[in-house]
Amino acid sequence: ESQMRIEAFTIDGLPLVGEGDDLAGMILDRVDFENYDILAIASTVVSKVEGRVREISEITPSDEAQRIAQKLDEDPRFVEAVLDECEEVLIEAPFMLVRRRGGHVCVSAGIDRSNIEEGKLLMLPKNPSQTAAAIRSRIFEETGKKVTVLITDTNGRAFRVGQTGIAIGASGMRPLLNWVGRFDLFGNVLTVTNEAIIDEIAGFANLLMGEGDGGTPAVVIRGLRVFEDVDVFSDIIRDENEDVIIAALRQMKSR
Ligand code: GDP
Ligand code: MN
Ligand code: MN
Repeated sequence: ESQMRIEAFTIDGLPLVGEGDDLAGMILDRVDFENYDILAIASTVVSKVEGRVREISEITPSDEAQRIAQKLDEDPRFVEAVLDECEEVLIEAPFMLVRRRGGHVCVSAGIDRSNIEEGKLLMLPKNPSQTAAAIRSRIFEETGKKVTVLITDTNGRAFRVGQTGIAIGASGMRPLLNWVGRFDLFGNVLTVTNEAIIDEIAGFANLLMGEGDGGTPAVVIRGLRVFEDVDVFSDIIRDENEDVIIAALRQMKSR
C-alpha cells in the first residue's frame, strides 16, 4: 500500500458558459463531492459567468496605450485593456508584465483571446478568492461537504520556458506548507523550505484541464488532505516591497 494515493478527474459535460450562468450549480449537478475534495476551476469560465468580457472594437486606446503598442507591434486597444487591468507595468516590451490589484504579476494582465469568441477579450475575474469562497460555501450548503476551491490560470514563469497552471485565488486551504522546523531523513532540522503547495496542486489540475478545446474547465482532486476552513490566499503573494525582482524591474524602468 502506498503512503499516498491521489485520484484526480475532470468534470465532463460542462457547456460553453456565459454571463450569469450558475457555474457552481452546473458543477454540483455533475459531481458527488466528498469531504476534503479539491475543486479547481479555470479562471476562464469564472470570468465568463462574471461577464468579464470586453468587445475589442469598443475600446479607445489612450496615448500611453498607443506608445506601448507601437513597441510591441500589438493592437493598441488590447494594450489599453491591459493598462485598465493593472496597478503597475513592470516590463513594457517585448511583452507586458504587469502587477494586478491584489499583487498577482502576469503577462498582459492575464487577458485571454483564446477560448472566447473572436473580437472579444476575457479579463481575469475581479476577485478570484471571493468567487472561490462563494462556491465553497454553496457546495457546503447544498451537500454538507467541506471542499477546497481553487481558481487557476495558465501562467508563464520567469527563467523557464513554458507555462504552468497556478492558483490566482482560493478558499479552504493554506497556500503554503512550511517545512521549517521539521526534520529531513537524517534528522537535520529544515530551515528554509516553504512549499507553495497551492501552485503544485493548481499545476496538476491545469494539466487535466488542457489548454485547448477539451471543454474541461473544472477538475476534482481527491485524497490530498489540505482542507482548512480558512481564506488566506494572499499569503502566497510576496510583499511587493520585499520582492527583489520587482525592485530590479522598477530600477530598469527608471533608467
Ligand atoms: P485558463 O487557463 O483559465 O486561461 O483557461 P483555458 O483557456 O486554458 O481553458 C481551460 C479549459 O477550460 C480547457 O479545457 C478549455 O477547453 C475549457 N473551457 C474554456 N471555456 C470553456 C467553457 O465556456 N465551457 C467549457 N465546458 N469549457 C471551457
Ligand atoms: Mn488564462
Ligand atoms: Mn489554460
